[in-house]
Amino acid sequence: MKEHAESMLKRKLIVNRGESIDRRSAVGTHQKATCEDIARLALAMHDRKHFFSLRRSLEMRFSRDINGSGVQALEVLRTGAGDDSRYLFRVHFESVHRDSESFLYEADLIRDQGKDYEPTVNCGKHCFGAQSVWLQIDWSSDEVAQWYSDTQRLSTADPDSLEEWLESDKEMLVKCRAGFICGWEKVLARDDLARHANAGTSLEDLKARLTCSKCGKRNARILAL
Ligand SMILES: [Zn+2]
Repeated sequence: MKEHAESMLKRKLIVNRGESIDRRSAVGTHQKATCEDIARLALAMHDRKHFFSLRRSLEMRFSRDINGSGVQALEVLRTGAGDDSRYLFRVHFESVHRDSESFLYEADLIRDQGKDYEPTVNCGKHCFGAQSVWLQIDWSSDEVAQWYSDTQRLSTADPDSLEEWLESDKEMLVKCRAGFICGWEKVLARDDLARHANAGTSLEDLKARLTCSKCGKRNARILAL
């Protein structure tokens, strides 16, 4: 664990609040990405982590207190990669004023006070903004451009009928209600959705009918992919 952190330290590029770097859009135009833009992308990826896990083989780790002073971090890692290429980037968030322009999300501020063997302290709801990002992946790479277009595509509200779902460019991920206790999930591809729609099934009917084939729990969750 310590080795990972050190190898990341050797090669990382740091972008602090107020700084920016180059990135490429999906159509190849050059743009600037500020520290805050990168933080927003990371949070959007975290919101849709089911998609990034399934389709892009990425995992996200959120830490509520990385240094005892309440700094929070969101790490994006490549699932199953070797140590050298596992870490992709990490965003650090610090507590900011509610009316600050850099306010990105609200969460409990947790501190361990830097004292060993003492419980962490929950200081209640605070607002957080981006402090810095550490990059280990080339931010002007095709892969990063793909993440920007993925989050943009997934940022629209999920369709609320099967017909709308078919008109959108989204597939459907069905996950067991029991969550990680069961872990069952299945992708309904566009052909599957079309078959249900042609049979006159409504989205509500489909949801009610979706039963976990592993534990038998009803009313599975559906998410857009
Ligand atoms: Zn289940």
